[in-house]
Order: sequence, then C-alpha cells, then structure tokens
Amino acid sequence: MVIAIDGPAGAGKSTIAKLLAKKLSFTYIDTGAMYRALTLKAIERGIKTRNTKALVAMAQDTLLDLAYTKDGSLRVLLDGRDVSADIRSPGVTRFVSDIAKIKDIRKIMLSLQRRLGREKDSVLDGRDIGTVVFPDADKKFFLDARFSERVKRRYKELKALGMPGVTLKNISVDLRNRDTIDSTRKCAPLRRAADAIYIDTTKMTISEVVRALAGALRRSARSPIWTRR
Ligand code: C5P
Repeated sequence: MVIAIDGPAGAGKSTIAKLLAKKLSFTYIDTGAMYRALTLKAIERGIKTRNTKALVAMAQDTLLDLAYTKDGSLRVLLDGRDVSADIRSPGVTRFVSDIAKIKDIRKIMLSLQRRLGREKDSVLDGRDIGTVVFPDADKKFFLDARFSERVKRRYKELKALGMPGVTLKNISVDLRNRDTIDSTRKCAPLRRAADAIYIDTTKMTISEVVRALAGALRRSARSPIWTRR
C-alpha cells in the first residue's frame, strides 16, 4: 500500500509522514532527502548546477539508499556514507531545486522511488508523489500552510538542529525561491493531484494533522475501493 503526501517546504510533510508511517507500521520514504543527497555530492565534486550532463552522469553513478535505525529514525546513505545531517545544510538547500528540476535526474530518482515504495507498505513525501511517482497511490494528501507559518516552522526546525546563521529572512528567501522553481519547472512540477485530500495545516497542531490523515484513511478503508486491495 502506498500513501502519498505532497506539498511545499515547511507545510509539515516530513514530520507528519514520519508519524503516520510509525502509526501504521509503514516505511517512511523521504524523497526530498534523495535530491538533497545528490546535491551534496555535486557540491562536494564542484559540479555547477548548469552542468546538466555532468550532474546526470554523477547521478547515474551514485548509490542512494535509505536505512532505518532500531529507534526508527531514517538515515540517508550516499554511496554508503551516512549524510543525514549534511543534506540539511543551507548550501544544499540553496541548490537542491536547481538540481531537482533536471529531467534526467528526475528519471533516475523516479525509478528508485518506485522501487523503494513497492518493496513495503510505504508513506512517501515529496512534490510529485501523487502526480507522477505514484499516480495510483492508495491515498493522496496535499499539505499546505500559510507562507509566514511555513517560514516560522522551518526556522524552528533548523534552530533545533543547531544550524548556524539561520535567520527568518534567509529562510523566507529560500522558501520563496524553492516554491517558485518547484512549481514552475517543466518536469513534474509541484501540483496537487486532483484526487488528493487538501489540508491547510496553518492553524493545526502536528497531532491534529496526523489525526486528520488517519481519519481519512480509516474512512477509505471502509469504502469498497479500499477493500478491493
Ligand atoms: O522535501 P525537501 O524540502 O527536503 O525537498 C528538497 C527539494 O527537493 C525540494 O525543494 C524540491 O526541489 C526537491 N524535491 C522534488 N521532488 C520531490 C521531493 C523533493 O523535486 N518528490
């Protein structure tokens, strides 16, 4: 079974996806982390974002994997190296959308994400899960929140990670930039799938959002379409 959660940065997707996966004993697949890991590798190798050919060759030659510790936390492995912390750096965040808009990079990520999603019951979060990666997902959600709220959340998150030099202004510029690139790119832009449940989380607590998703899943479990599987 596949549950797709899409939406812009800071809407609460990863927090909610993680909690929902835990509640259902599903695997959580953070697709943004995959694009971030590729971006980290490109930065380390000094490959510029406009050098599409070199970036695609690099991606073809990369081993990306997600591993889970005993306590259930997700580790991102780039060519066998744990890069879970490094991929959250401002440097990676700044360039990730430029790399994620490259069609051939997305093709490589698409097949990896489909393979991982089909291996076990999964909750995937990203930008194009319900529209492109799993258009036939069992359930789709689109999480959104007011821009100022998304900035505040991202600020708190990065502060909690101990990230230096984090300001509301930086975050606001970064979110605006990524929102624009992610939603206007030609290949798999950020869009709400027609059959996704839209949830504005601006005024909701984390547990309220998880409850809303779990409730929607329970309701569809009783519907004939759901029980067919
Ligand atoms: O989810 P997160 O904010 O970590 O994603 C980082 C970036 O990766 C996004 O801004 C977007 O450019 C890209 N991304 C994507 N498609 C996905 C997941 C993430 O293009 N499914």
